[in-house]
Amino acid sequence: MAEYVYTSLDNASVITSKYMDIARSSILFLDRDGIIIKDVGHISKIEDVELVPGIDRLILRLKDAGMLIVVVTNQASVPRGIISVDKYIELTTHMLCLLGESTPDMILSSFYHPIFSKTNCNSSWRKPGSGMFRYALDILDVDINKCIMIGDRPSDVLAAEAVGISTNYLLKTERYADEICLYKVNNKIRGKGFKLINSLDNVG
Ligand SMILES: [Mg+2]
Repeated sequence: MAEYVYTSLDNASVITSKYMDIARSSILFLDRDGIIIKDVGHISKIEDVELVPGIDRLILRLKDAGMLIVVVTNQASVPRGIISVDKYIELTTHMLCLLGESTPDMILSSFYHPIFSKTNCNSSWRKPGSGMFRYALDILDVDINKCIMIGDRPSDVLAAEAVGISTNYLLKTERYADEICLYKVNNKIRGKGFKLINSLDNVG
């Protein structure tokens, strides 16, 4: 990860590209599992890291449109003891290799879990908490009205809406189809809610 700076926080980490162009005026927030790489549960092996079709095209297209790419990901595998922070970095490095030129500008990870974490520090970073979004918005000077979030679970939408992002997409997956359905039925959608998409190529 030579082109990135890694910062360790309590129950969280920040990985920032050395070449981040802060003149860009908006942020594309991306969930990791299910959006950048296929969600196969708690990933612990490099062989399990596989890109979601279309993610490289999407990142390049929106970077060209002047967006910063920020990954916001809950990584409960770390507090659960399934993987170490070092292993997480190894898996992230492999993901970045697979992405080639379509690399993100920043990767924010929450290692907090209410049961398994020893401290509450950075607990708001765990989605549906909005801490990761707030962190990025605090240090990057962008127009919130132009920001976009793409995730695959209602918790992604809740976190994004809490900071005022109104353009939210959920990629339809079998894994969370019931969760999304229940969320809609319970009418918990606030603001503009989200657009359900079948492919990352459907992001407008
Ligand atoms: Mg996900």
